Amino acid sequence: MLEGKIAVVTGAAKGIGKAIALAFAKEGCNIVLNYHSTLPDSTISAVKEYGVKCLPMQGDVADFRFAMQLVKDVKKEFGTLDILVNNAGITRDMLLMRMSEEQFDEVINTNLKGTFNMIRHASNLMLKQRSGVIINMASVVGLTGNIGQANYAASKAGIIGLTKSAAKELAQRGITCNAIAPGFVETDMTDVLAEETKQEILNAIPLKRYGKVDDIASAAVFLAKNTYITGQVLNVDGGMVM
Ligand code: NAP
Repeated sequence: MLEGKIAVVTGAAKGIGKAIALAFAKEGCNIVLNYHSTLPDSTISAVKEYGVKCLPMQGDVADFRFAMQLVKDVKKEFGTLDILVNNAGITRDMLLMRMSEEQFDEVINTNLKGTFNMIRHASNLMLKQRSGVIINMASVVGLTGNIGQANYAASKAGIIGLTKSAAKELAQRGITCNAIAPGFVETDMTDVLAEETKQEILNAIPLKRYGKVDDIASAAVFLAKNTYITGQVLNVDGGMVM
C-alpha cells in the first residue's frame, strides 16, 4: 500500500527517526533522509538494502529557507511528497527558574518551528497533489507537563495544537495530519538521564518496559496506511498516560 511513495523523515540519522525511515523503506517507500550534524553510511545502506531510493539531505529544520529548499529538491527529484514525518527534536532540560532564553528558544525553534516550517512547505505540494500524510512527533510530556522540561513540554504541546489545526485545514484535500506521543523510548535522548530517574519512569509504565524505537516506527506506518484518522494524538507509551 505504501510501495513507491516518497517519505521525508526529519532527524533521521539515528534513534526514532532512523527506525521510522527503515520501517517506511521496508514498506517500499523511497526515503528522503534529513539529518542535522552527521549521517552514518550504515544508515544509508540500511535503507538501500530494501531496494528503495535514499536521498540524504543535510540541514536544520528550524531554518525556514532550508525547509523550503528541501521540499523544492524533493519535488525536483521525485515529483511528489507523499509522507512527511516531523521527527527532529531536541531537549535542553532545566528548571524553569534557571532556564535561559537560549534554552527556551532553541527547543521551540527546533521542535515546534521546525515542524511548522516543514508542514508549511510540504503542504503546498500535498495540496496540489490532493493527498498526503503528515506525522508529527509530540511526546506524552506535551500532554502532562514535566519538571525540568517547560521548554520541551511547551514545544510538544504546541505540536499537538499545530497538528490539529493542520488536520482541519488540510482534510478537504485528502491530507491527514496526526501526532505520535511517545513515552520513554531508549535512544541517545533518554540515555543521558540518571539511573534513578530512569527507574522512577519505569515504575510509572504499566507495561513495565521502556519503549523501543520500533514501537514508534510501527505506529508511524499504521498512521500512514490509515486514511480515516486525522487530528489525533496517538500515545505510544506502555500505558504511561491514559
Ligand atoms: P535522538 O536520538 O536525540 O535523535 C534526534 C535526531 O534529531 C538526531 O538525529 C538529531 O540530529 C536530529 N535533529 C536535532 N535537531 C535538528 C535540527 N535542527 N534539524 C534536523 N534534525 C535535527 O532523539 P530520539 O529519542 O530519537 O527523538 C526523536 C523524536 O522523538 C524527537 O522529536 C523527540 O522529542 C521525540 N520523543 C522522544 C522520546 C524518547 O523517549 N526518546 C519521547 C518522546 C518524544 P543531530 O544529533 O545531528 O543534531
